[in-house]
Amino acid sequence: MSAIQDQVRRRRTFAIISHPDAGKTTLTEKLLLFSGAIQIAGSVKARKASRHATSDWMEIEKQRGISVASSVMQMEYRDCVINLLDTPGHQDFSEDTYRVLTAVDAALMVIDAANGVEPQTRRLLQVCRARNTPILTFVNKMDREVQEPLALMDEIERELGMGVVPFTWPVGMAKFFGGVLDLRKAQMRVFSPGEDKRHDDDEIIDGLANPLLAQRFGAAYEQAAGEIELVQEAAPAFDEAAFLAGRQTPMFFGSAINNFGVKEVLDALVDLAPPPGDKPAIQRTVGATEPKFSGVVFKIQANMDPAHRDRIAFVRVASGHFTRGMRLKVTRSGKEMRPNTVVTFLSQRRELLEEAYAGDIIGLPNHGVLQLGDTLTEGEPLQFTGLPFFAPEMFRSVEVADPLKTKQLRAGLTQLGEEGAIQVFRPVAGSVLLLGAVGQLQFEVVAHRLEHEYGCKARITSARYNVARWVTCDDAKELQRFIDGNAHRVAMDAVDAPCVLLEYAGELRAMQDNWPKIQFHALREHA
Ligand code: GDP
Repeated sequence: MSAIQDQVRRRRTFAIISHPDAGKTTLTEKLLLFSGAIQIAGSVKARKASRHATSDWMEIEKQRGISVASSVMQMEYRDCVINLLDTPGHQDFSEDTYRVLTAVDAALMVIDAANGVEPQTRRLLQVCRARNTPILTFVNKMDREVQEPLALMDEIERELGMGVVPFTWPVGMAKFFGGVLDLRKAQMRVFSPGEDKRHDDDEIIDGLANPLLAQRFGAAYEQAAGEIELVQEAAPAFDEAAFLAGRQTPMFFGSAINNFGVKEVLDALVDLAPPPGDKPAIQRTVGATEPKFSGVVFKIQANMDPAHRDRIAFVRVASGHFTRGMRLKVTRSGKEMRPNTVVTFLSQRRELLEEAYAGDIIGLPNHGVLQLGDTLTEGEPLQFTGLPFFAPEMFRSVEVADPLKTKQLRAGLTQLGEEGAIQVFRPVAGSVLLLGAVGQLQFEVVAHRLEHEYGCKARITSARYNVARWVTCDDAKELQRFIDGNAHRVAMDAVDAPCVLLEYAGELRAMQDNWPKIQFHALREHA
């Protein structure tokens, strides 16, 4: 096995998806505790402090600062290198989250056992499903009064439309939570509360039918044993191919705050989740173990410090061996760069990174050379696909209060647009720029950042649009005819892709009838 193959085989890159309060932060901390965290980006606790960031500016800023630092965590567990990517919690930033999900090879879904499948989880899961991302499920908070496990399993199956295969099964709940039966290892892991204990403190009882279990856990054990019998009759066996295709999810029960059940999940990530695989580019499919480096920018974050105007592009390595100082080429622009200050984020200090392999995330500081969706290679013109931009659902007009600041406004909006903080549209007819967002908070953040980072007070006012669709057509002339014929409601986005803006969804249908050759897209993938 080559050195690259060996490194790729060891990599696991995943994100946690959950509804706020299900326990993502807690579980992240415990995962780090159980593994030797080799690069913890920022303190997880610090992030939690501003977890409830609402529409308060300082909170948003704080959260942004923290999220710069804690976006990527790298840890070592058994012989694997695990990259855990953070996803922003606030649903107004879900666009950003969707893009982060394009950079992972698996997702860990955390469900609050009392609440079952909640809206944010459902939304995030749709994105994973669309990409066939393998999903592991952790049912959290078994130390509380929660739903019956069979009911939860049913709900997950129904809501997510995927087969659920329990790997562990809970014995009792709340005050009577006795632990979990490990169906694979045929043993019981006995629960004991405690925040800082390590997994090897857990008591193990061998055998699922061990008479000790009935003696100790009585009715709770009898019930669990009955449920397991039911489940094993009805549920399909674990099928690795179905899991890897995102059609089956292994399910684990536990209590993150008590460090309970966490190790099973970590082991499952190592044993079941896939190492980095092939990635489709427009030109060809790129194998993770190819010797030459390639990577894709899936997130851009402006520097928090206004004195440093650089931005950090988060690049997911797709293939090859990255070394500091190597010469890279941006396929879109043909520009070369030779990043010497590639960073990871260790304890909120920037640490220089020396090398990386497929699955790893590297941070490249740059001054606008890199945009979302950019592909970097050692020279081969490759463009990876699959980074989604969603059609905005809210629109605002934006003007400067002081006409002398028009230049700053344009510069600021261009950069914020490239970061993916907002989508900026330039109407074909008219000069007032339009902003498009998926969540209201995005407008507020943009107004704030324009003022504080670019020194220009923007006037953001309502716009009459509510629906946007990117338009394409195999026939360039027909597309131009469409644009000319609808000039009053066509706008160009940041990469000059035309988009039609409408007031009502109903108008879209009429338009589709009138222009049968034009295709309307709610999602644009960077190309
Ligand atoms: P996040 O919003 O998904 O990051 O959730 P947090 O990790 O911040 O957890 C939300 C709340 O649930 C916090 O008060 C945690 O202490 C609590 N919590 C997390 N895991 C457990 C658990 O296993 N049992 C109980 N009882 N509470 C938990």
